[in-house]
Amino acid sequence: MRKKVIAGNWKMNKLLSEAEQFVETAKTKIPNEDKAESVVCAPFPFLPALVEKAKGTDLKIAAQNMHFEDSGAFTGEVSPAMLKDLGVTHVVLGHSERRELFAETDETVNKKTRAAFNHGLIPIICVGETLEQRENNETMNHIEAQVKKALEGLTEDQVKASIIAYEPIWAIGTGKTATSEQANEVCTHIRKVVKTAVSEEAGNAVRLQYGGSVKPANVDELLSQSDIDGALVGGASLEADSFVQLAEAGA
Ligand code: 13P
Repeated sequence: MRKKVIAGNWKMNKLLSEAEQFVETAKTKIPNEDKAESVVCAPFPFLPALVEKAKGTDLKIAAQNMHFEDSGAFTGEVSPAMLKDLGVTHVVLGHSERRELFAETDETVNKKTRAAFNHGLIPIICVGETLEQRENNETMNHIEAQVKKALEGLTEDQVKASIIAYEPIWAIGTGKTATSEQANEVCTHIRKVVKTAVSEEAGNAVRLQYGGSVKPANVDELLSQSDIDGALVGGASLEADSFVQLAEAGA
């Protein structure tokens, strides 16, 4: 059985005091990590304080992006070594907002995925189609290309340890959730792609999240689907009580 992983992606929200208050509230209420993994993906400046606050609890702290190089002349960027050094465990890579607004490509996502593993960070690799692609029946081909490129050059064990988040762009922040069948159909396809491109075992082990207007009211149905192993949640992860409810649904 694949352990469920619930991740809250705060995006560019909160101030440090609010972030600390959230972790203080959530850290003792989330499920035991043997039952489900709970991850908070926070803005860079909060990471040291949140890692410190979450120490010794079941809550894991993630970054929302990083550069692929270890160090160097990359003004404004943050390296995987810096994140690892802070005690960060996961990193979101290739979120559609980064692809659309900050020129992230399948190529840079692949470089970042490999860099994450080189530094012992677990990548949460985001893929997803636009509404136009869905209407033109291009969803499966588009997702397949994104997944294959993201995983290129990884070892089988690294693929097994990866988390892939399927986030249809038309469902992000719109209140329009994909139906659980739509979400599962794409996740089943992703698993098949991994089985063919890497191995049967890797396809069975890789964990697949759904993201896009997930909330306490719809999370149970999404998580009950055969190929959905968790959720990547934006808006509904901003309140500690709501995040805890989502995390509990994974247990
Ligand atoms: P919402 O849950 O606000 O739709 O955001 C989804 C998302 O982009 C998580 O990464």
